[in-house]
Amino acid sequence: MRYAFRLGAALAVLCVLPTAIAADLVITGAKIYPAPGAAPIENAAVLIRDDRIVSVGPAKDVDADKNAMVIDAAGGTVLAGFWNSHVHFTEPKWAGAAKLPAPRLQSQLREMLVRYGFTTVVDTGSDPRDTGPLRARIESGEIAGPRIIMAMSPLFPPDGVPFYVRKALPPEFLAQLSQPATAEAAAAIVRANLDGGGEVVKLFTGSWVEPGRVKPMPVAVARAAVDEAHRHDALVFTHPSDVAGLEVALESGVDVLAHSVEDLDGFDHSHLDRMRARNMAMVPTLKLFSGIPDSKLDAILREVGDYQRLGGSIWFGTDVGYLEDYDPTVEFELLRRAGLSFDQILAALTTSPASRLPGGGKRGRVEAGMMADLVVVDGDPAQDPEAWTRVRYVLRGGQKLFDANAPEKR
Ligand SMILES: [Zn+2]
Repeated sequence: MRYAFRLGAALAVLCVLPTAIAADLVITGAKIYPAPGAAPIENAAVLIRDDRIVSVGPAKDVDADKNAMVIDAAGGTVLAGFWNSHVHFTEPKWAGAAKLPAPRLQSQLREMLVRYGFTTVVDTGSDPRDTGPLRARIESGEIAGPRIIMAMSPLFPPDGVPFYVRKALPPEFLAQLSQPATAEAAAAIVRANLDGGGEVVKLFTGSWVEPGRVKPMPVAVARAAVDEAHRHDALVFTHPSDVAGLEVALESGVDVLAHSVEDLDGFDHSHLDRMRARNMAMVPTLKLFSGIPDSKLDAILREVGDYQRLGGSIWFGTDVGYLEDYDPTVEFELLRRAGLSFDQILAALTTSPASRLPGGGKRGRVEAGMMADLVVVDGDPAQDPEAWTRVRYVLRGGQKLFDANAPEKR
């Protein structure tokens, strides 16, 4: 019995050891916006233990152990980790991610995502043979990087791969792209994607098969894909492209527009009303459209602003990976031009995607009990919008992903 007691005690020690050794972390001296719409806390502190936020409040009320590691964030603002709800890992540098050296992948993730504060990203379509291992290596702790929510391989209309994708990919890869012609085939592809590790589904309900010509996905095909995804509690994203592509999305029950509708010929307020009635979210990807003539861009900005004013859910997303310029500054500027306030942009970056995407229940707010996914920016983005991209620190699950003052280790 004595032996058993000792063994039990030894096991108990082993179990508590990691927590006992890991020092608490406290971020102090900053302003904190706990959540969109909540009053900021001045001269505040966040106490982090392991991967969670333990307490948040005025620095004098947050009781940190004297051995706690301290991040002095004076002059900065603490926000919940940002979500980028539209990214890709399709550039050639991700090919063979299963075998690429960890420091190289870490550096690429930092360059594209982490340095801008993104702690969760939605991969809306890449080669799962690259994204899958990349995600696994991040989750194993081998590589410091964001959480990746993966759509696996997208579904296109029959003979409906967009011209810009056809131009960019080798023929052997193009041949594998899913272009289901029937409801049964669409459901089978969705099932295979979700069985293979996908957590969301991406459709092209409108596909630019040529410049100036959109091919819509047959409604029955889209509906079968959506129904199958919903049976597995997975959200469905789509690229609508034009009004016909939006109609297919509305009729089939798609959850998220992965872009604003870019060709607005025939678009009116009733479309926004129907999107709102169906609780459809929108990832505007405005930077993607920033090069088009002003009158067309203004119409897209009106679409996004009107949807926000109607109470529609807007999620931040930049289509990086397709866009090779990763800097999100223009996206922030255009969201403001569309009429979004500081709180609405913060919601698009945090609580709005977190309210519906996997893992969102414990993320999106700077609150006790939440995962310690945090961003510290220089200055206050509510007063100075340029502060959105002046990122100083990024933590994910209490681990430091980025420190602007620390040179990158290679
Ligand atoms: Zn995209």
